[in-house]
Amino acid sequence: MLLYTLVIQHAAQVLTLAGGPTNRPLAGADLGNWTIIERGYVACVGDKIVAVGPMDGLDLAHLGPETRLVDATGCVVMPGLVECHTHLVFGGNRADEFERKLRGESYLDILASGGGILSTVRATRAASEAELLANALHHLDGFRRYGVTTLEAKSGYGLDRDTELRLVRVARAAGHQQPVRVVPTFLGAHVVPPEFKAAGPRAYVDFILREVLSDLKGEAAFVDIFCEQGAFPLDVSRYYLEQAHKMGFGLKIHAEQLHDLGGCEMAAELGATSVDHCDYLTPAAAARIARQTAGQTVAVLLPLVPLFLRQEKFAPGREFIDNGLPVALSTDFNPGSCPSKNLWLALSVACLKMGFTPKEAVAAATLNAAWAIARQPDCGSLEPGKRADILVLNVGSVAEIPYWLGENPVRDVFIGGQ
Ligand SMILES: [Zn+2]
Repeated sequence: MLLYTLVIQHAAQVLTLAGGPTNRPLAGADLGNWTIIERGYVACVGDKIVAVGPMDGLDLAHLGPETRLVDATGCVVMPGLVECHTHLVFGGNRADEFERKLRGESYLDILASGGGILSTVRATRAASEAELLANALHHLDGFRRYGVTTLEAKSGYGLDRDTELRLVRVARAAGHQQPVRVVPTFLGAHVVPPEFKAAGPRAYVDFILREVLSDLKGEAAFVDIFCEQGAFPLDVSRYYLEQAHKMGFGLKIHAEQLHDLGGCEMAAELGATSVDHCDYLTPAAAARIARQTAGQTVAVLLPLVPLFLRQEKFAPGREFIDNGLPVALSTDFNPGSCPSKNLWLALSVACLKMGFTPKEAVAAATLNAAWAIARQPDCGSLEPGKRADILVLNVGSVAEIPYWLGENPVRDVFIGGQ
């Protein structure tokens, strides 16, 4: 008889995220139609979930003296949060620019004056590998307290060969030194570094393709680029992603954050796993992406960014959902446009400013976020066979999750059954 090693029992609600299609991310009505079990349990053996169901279906024959029993009376039990878009590794911070922004300077004005991303690049190049690792571990510990159990981490504050490789190395090392799983993405094409200012964006991405990407095979699953005014234009972004795709990397893009340049549609056409930001993506373009990609490309929406940048324009999430585009939610944790690790707050703002329901917001930060980093086979839902990444929350229903604005509802975090 198989003995359970961990049973979380008597939960007021178990948010399984199960019940939808398994061959694509949740979209349209499916985003809010997954199964909630009232008065339920989750059972694990080692690092895997083996059974999920209502309490009256819990087979006591599987319980032994070694079984750890966790009482979740009155609590919601759900999968660990999946953070599918962060800039985890960086030096310094940009509190001084926060004050400039409060006085009225815009994000792109600050970038054009050599601040913004470029000021973090200077601080990151100057930091030692040990300092960067210590910072990354500190932030990962914060994410874990918020219930994040898998996290994507982008490079992009080095913008030279050695520093970019160091950032990917630090992200991987940080993933190995604590329990939250880290998925590295290469964002060497974040902005054009000062050294390539005269030569231009195309010359810089040629340098990356020639000198850096070949050393990242197996080290980073995804290649990402910031397609925006002041960063990389559409044609250079397309060229770069096409080349990276030929080298075997999965594709991501930062696009339609501040202007509608057509970056999301372009990247989706190339088979991008996700298109991120999308504040200026139109509902019509969202519908075209959903059709073109057969619902495989996920739009990662980042509601804390326009909030922090004091912008009124939020991605039209409700229209995206109604038009069949799969959506995920993330913080975009970074020192400039979102210094917050509170993904719960992002869910609340998605409900308030993007038209999500609480159930949709939860799916967007778990199962669909897992799809956005191609980790859906083993995380994002509570189903037999998945990794035992499980949260117990101090709330009694799914609606309460985004309701307690700014609070951290996490009581217990289990990662791989521990
Ligand atoms: Zn970002």
